[in-house]
Amino acid sequence: MQWMVHWPGSYPIYVQHAAGGHLVDVDGHDYVDFCLGDSGAMAGHSPGEVIAAATARLARGVTFMLPTADAIAAAEHLARRFGLPIWQFTLSATDANRAAIRYARGLTRRPKILIFNHSYHGGVDETFATLDHGSVVSPATSLGPPVDPAVTTNVAEFNDIGAVEGALAAGDIAAVLTEPALTNAGIVLPEPGFHAALRHLTRANGSLLILDETHTLCCGPGGYTREYQLEPDIVVVGKAIAGGLPAGAYGFTAELGAQAAEATPADNSDSPGVGGTLAANALSMAAVRATLETALTDASFARTIPLASRWADGVRRACAAHGIEWHVIQLGCRAEFQFSPAAFATGADAIAAKEPALERFLHLFALNRGVLLTPFHNMALMCPEHSEADVDRHSAVFDAALTRLSETNIG
Ligand code: PMP
Repeated sequence: MQWMVHWPGSYPIYVQHAAGGHLVDVDGHDYVDFCLGDSGAMAGHSPGEVIAAATARLARGVTFMLPTADAIAAAEHLARRFGLPIWQFTLSATDANRAAIRYARGLTRRPKILIFNHSYHGGVDETFATLDHGSVVSPATSLGPPVDPAVTTNVAEFNDIGAVEGALAAGDIAAVLTEPALTNAGIVLPEPGFHAALRHLTRANGSLLILDETHTLCCGPGGYTREYQLEPDIVVVGKAIAGGLPAGAYGFTAELGAQAAEATPADNSDSPGVGGTLAANALSMAAVRATLETALTDASFARTIPLASRWADGVRRACAAHGIEWHVIQLGCRAEFQFSPAAFATGADAIAAKEPALERFLHLFALNRGVLLTPFHNMALMCPEHSEADVDRHSAVFDAALTRLSETNIG
């Protein structure tokens, strides 16, 4: 895994146990965990009611290839949160993106998708594409592509609505797939008007809009979509929705639901190319239901979003004290520092600002003082069990790291 290669030491720490916002490694060291499994544990490690629901389910059968009542409750819950009525479950966000793309191509009868440069949507072949002087190519770091990505995929820079317009005009784009705000190369926020223009252009050109809320669920119970009243055709979620147990989901409009039903007639329904034996298994569904009903609630975001603000303020204070002009950005209960004086407009900006040696130093310095940040991101995610003292510990450690930097001139 990439994060192991980029780990700021010779080897990753091995986990013994975790609870809430802390984890303990096999040597007994306690860490404030701001990585939270890169979002899988956004509700905190082992939230009590999720564990109770999953444990009860474990003893009563976990997989039937038949639905359970939990699946209905979970789907209705997601429908209320995201404003889309039809939901399908998968085992991961990757699976959900793959199925969403398959439906989008099948229903629009168009071959390509449009993604944004340096986005990430999981292990989905069509999304391993990047721009090289305007041409769509396979990223240098990805395993040999099965087909030329330019055949399946178009790529634009995030916030470049002119490029989106040009790409959609070709009439071959089944769907635009994007996070509402990019989070994987670094947080890149949409500029004012970007989402309105994206929605207008996709509708005008007959392309679907898929919003991948896997990470941006950090913005609130209905993700960025609900927070900013966006109107996607399809929403993808995963990682955190089952408290860390394997589950993803994608929801779509009633109109697409009707089209999908029509496209998969009963006598041909064995091969729609979506779904799977373990999809919507009873264990995952019990965990999704409990997570949505009890863990990732309004109350939990009311606690975690101010914690992220406190974390961001701590970083800003330390930067100001040391005369360092780094940008600090917050997206719901997630916050990040960026080695740049201003916010990024595009994924390319985010990649250009990378400072691998500096990043490794800061991560290792924090790790050695009991603070875990998300590997290869300068990012912290808050869960409801994090305390103000946990956040302040990061502020103090970060300040000490900047002091060390100024003494030794590293980076
Ligand atoms: N979508 C986004 C936005 C992601 O960041 C990720 C993983 N980082 C995925 C999808 C894929 O998630 P998973 O690896 O759990 O399938």
